[in-house]
Amino acid sequence: MKNRLIALLVFLLIILGLFSCKHNDKLKYVFRNSKNLVPIIIYHNFDRNANKKDTSTFDINKFERNLIYLKNNGYNTIFAKDLDKPLPEKPIVITMDDGYMSNYKLAFPLLKKYDMKATIFIIGWSVGAQNTHYSLSFFNWNQAKEMVDSKLIDIESHSYDLHSEKGYSYGEGKICEKGVGKLLNETDEDYIKRVKADYKKIYNLITEHLNYEPKVFAYPYGIYNKLAEKTIKEEGANITFITGTEIADISNGFYLLPRITMESYTDLQTVISTSIFN
Ligand SMILES: [Zn+2]
Repeated sequence: MKNRLIALLVFLLIILGLFSCKHNDKLKYVFRNSKNLVPIIIYHNFDRNANKKDTSTFDINKFERNLIYLKNNGYNTIFAKDLDKPLPEKPIVITMDDGYMSNYKLAFPLLKKYDMKATIFIIGWSVGAQNTHYSLSFFNWNQAKEMVDSKLIDIESHSYDLHSEKGYSYGEGKICEKGVGKLLNETDEDYIKRVKADYKKIYNLITEHLNYEPKVFAYPYGIYNKLAEKTIKEEGANITFITGTEIADISNGFYLLPRITMESYTDLQTVISTSIFN
């Protein structure tokens, strides 16, 4: 009888041991994942009652629901520039591209309301550019400064003028490949010079108007090449971003991190639930 009892006890201890090991492994796994995978999402323009056909304009009410979802589910918004620092539990990076006026007029008040952070990647030449409708206009430097001073917005570089479609350049009238692409017949040397000059131009503008040095760079259209990346790194960028459909994994460094575009129809919950803790 005594032997049987001992055998039963040993058996129970083994089973308990197995369960607790399994449990710990799982905890470790979840912990590791939550530290190395960070969802980075991109919004562009916002509008009230946004037209669903215009997929890049996001309905501001839906944006508010996104913020509430993140808040209620324990996500912590961090700036893109803080990705290489110690991270909170369940970090997420909200970014907005191109510097639309609606970021200031519609999104910024909501970020204040919920005390959440976002990084805006501006195109240097277009800061303050006005159109007849505010949804196609861009916030100016005073508005940028007001947002930065709130400590809820960080403003970083989306290039000064490398955000052009193929065959069309907004700024200096030169035929340009899309994004940071090389010009037709441009030598490597001239190309590096041009990327450097562009990087410096927006770097100086941000330093002058916002009083800090921009340290991260988001490639226009997510398009990049090795030469541009090398040049931008050498100019001092600590973190660079492309676009993608996957959650960024920061285990292997902070360059060319993918960001997921939020189209008007994108469901935030689907985007992030496919990553963390799975
Ligand atoms: Zn852009």
